[in-house]
Parts: sequence; C-alpha cells; structure tokens
Amino acid sequence: MNGPKVLLVEDNPRNLKLARDVLEYAGFRVTAVTTGEEALPAAREVMPDVILMDLQLPGIDGHTALSRLRADVRTDGIPVVAVSAFAMRADRDRALAEGFDGYLEKPISIRDLPDQVRRHVRPGGGVG
Ligand code: MN
Repeated sequence: MNGPKVLLVEDNPRNLKLARDVLEYAGFRVTAVTTGEEALPAAREVMPDVILMDLQLPGIDGHTALSRLRADVRTDGIPVVAVSAFAMRADRDRALAEGFDGYLEKPISIRDLPDQVRRHVRPGGGVG
C-alpha cells in the first residue's frame, strides 16, 4: 500500500466518512482530523502529499489553519485544497488568493474526487 497520503480536515462525520471511503478505495492512504487545530500537528506527523481542508470548521476555520500550515517550514510546501459548501465565485477567488492550491465545492463528487485530489499530489508523492 503506497498510494499518496492525504490528510482530511472535516468536522462533519458523514462528509468525512464519504471522502475517506472514496479516497481509500482509490488507493490513497487517509488520515483524518475534525478540527483546524489538529491539522498542523497531524500534517507534521504524517507529512501528507496533499491536504483537503474544509473551510467551515469549529474553532479555527480552514483559512486560519492554512495560514498556520504556511507559517511552518515543515508544512509550508504541502499542497492544500479548500473544500467548501459556498458555491460562490467570491469564496473560490478568496481561497485561491490566500494560497490554497485548489478549491472543491461540496457536495464532493464520488466519481471525480480521486482525480481531483490526485491532481494536487506533489511530485514524488505516493512512494514514501
Ligand atoms: Mn465543516
């Protein structure tokens, strides 16, 4: 089992289970946390190839969690994809402007999610 490592940050249990199931079925190695506070220590420990970050979280939100990841030299280079239910152009533009590497709208597409995530895996990811 040497698929790409993905860290899921998602507070909704059903959304989390769905994303985990879809990505594991597609060969990803999935680690999941349910708060933004947990994202930075989990990223340091796992060193994922890509992070899927829900923007609406209890406690610190996905925007703040991203800034913490970017402020740490160990996690600064990890691609982070925003996931949001806000199907608004301004929300997407804001996320990309503040440094997210991609943006996915909820509900996620079961069919497309693996490719959408794989697209952001950093080069060399999925071998370590
Ligand atoms: Mn949420």
